[in-house]
Amino acid sequence: LTKHLKSTDLLRDAGYVNGNWIGGNGAATFDVLNPATGEKLATLPEMGASETAAAIDAAYAVQPLWAARPAKDRSVLLRKWFDLIIANADELAAILTAEMGKPLAEAKGEILYAASYIEWYAEEAKRINGETIPAPSADKRMLVIKQPVGVVGTITPWNFPAAMIARKAAPALAVGCTVVSKPAEQTPLSAIALAVLAEKAGIPAGAFNIILGTDGPAIGKELCFNPKVRKISFTGSTEVGRILMRQCSDQIKKVSLELGGNAPFIVFDDANLDAAVEGAMASKYRNAGQTCVCANRLYVQSNVYDAFAEKLAKKVAELSVGDGFDKGTTIGPLIEETAIDKVEAHIADAVSKGATVIAGGKRVTGKGTFFEPTVLKGVARGMTVAKEETFGPVAPLFRFDTVEDVIEQANDTEFGLAAYFFAGDLKKVWKVAEALEYGMVGVNTGLISSEAAPFGGIKQSGLGREGSAHGADDYLELKYVCMGDV
Ligand code: ADP
Repeated sequence: LTKHLKSTDLLRDAGYVNGNWIGGNGAATFDVLNPATGEKLATLPEMGASETAAAIDAAYAVQPLWAARPAKDRSVLLRKWFDLIIANADELAAILTAEMGKPLAEAKGEILYAASYIEWYAEEAKRINGETIPAPSADKRMLVIKQPVGVVGTITPWNFPAAMIARKAAPALAVGCTVVSKPAEQTPLSAIALAVLAEKAGIPAGAFNIILGTDGPAIGKELCFNPKVRKISFTGSTEVGRILMRQCSDQIKKVSLELGGNAPFIVFDDANLDAAVEGAMASKYRNAGQTCVCANRLYVQSNVYDAFAEKLAKKVAELSVGDGFDKGTTIGPLIEETAIDKVEAHIADAVSKGATVIAGGKRVTGKGTFFEPTVLKGVARGMTVAKEETFGPVAPLFRFDTVEDVIEQANDTEFGLAAYFFAGDLKKVWKVAEALEYGMVGVNTGLISSEAAPFGGIKQSGLGREGSAHGADDYLELKYVCMGDV
């Protein structure tokens, strides 16, 4: 890793609690590996429930002081953090590529995306306005003020090691909450680097803490059951989301959950086919298919099915699989062996039930966990890919005939995160946009994420929204103040 960095300033073999870097003390450790090479990048201390409790104590002690600072102070500090992230974007991108695998250009994109949330909430911090309500009786005055919920525990996944943390920490800190953050065990180095810069920016000790460890369940339990934590914000699998929500029910703890998706991507026969192929490439193969908003099921209308399949397979053949640090790489490795197993199982199931592979289809032999970007034709209901999120570079193409039929199939899932469709006719565009049971819909685009927009899902894809002015609400309580006798 160090050969890709100008300095080692952003690396620490330590967690960050109450402004202190907590190293191993010779106790238990875990290794962070580069998925492209298997190379060991770092050995980090295993922190568990007791370190988590110490971080919670620190966050709890400093929270009223942090909340009492003028909003403009918090804004200025977040802005400094943002400026430092931008100034160190290349270094942060290299750390991200090393631990997660995505191509360097994509990693840089993620760093800028992560920073955009910090910039946005640095600005938003100053606009947490309350309201006055005309009272129904002459002797009363009614007001609403907004206050931070308190200490927030965040748990985040490996697929966006920087952005998922920024998306939670920025609004939380902006409104006066403090944060205990547990990054994914596969990708903690980006979180550590962000904390180094937060410290440098002057975010006070205890306001932003990083707990490192592989025992997610133990750290999660402490965050859920410690009464000093008032909210959990989680991004990850629906399965773990369910566990956390159940654990939080004991204390009626607030939860924001950004969980799995099973995004439909629909191409109608009046779509601009080249634009639809571009959209599918961006939505399906970004991050090697490892995002919760990746197109998972591609529905193509009968008249354009063969043409779309041919164009997509041609583009997919141009992708270049390799180490994220190599020039020209457009697809990095999958995160680990189990990810390869899942992709192989989904393809094998589809092929055994009649689908054909028209691009890719196999693991890349040699070092690392690489998989060829794949397109499957002749996919139908009843195959695993119709129901489950693949989380890999596989595009299954389903054929459909009518608008009603495709809406029914697209909505036939317990998930409701992102959906995409390409169409020309405006009347159809509105009809389909309104009928899709998803929190986010991309129309004639495969890229929808933005700090200015509310990101989040419905059904079993989650609760709450991240980004936009709405994203601050997840970290605020409304307090109604009624003044009598006036
Ligand atoms: P993924 O499939 O993306 O790894 P997970 O939901 O398993 O998704 O993991 C997301 C995050 O949740 C990681 O930081 C992981 O360590 C953490 N985690 C896993 N299991 C639990 C749990 N039982 N309680 C709390 N956190 C957990």
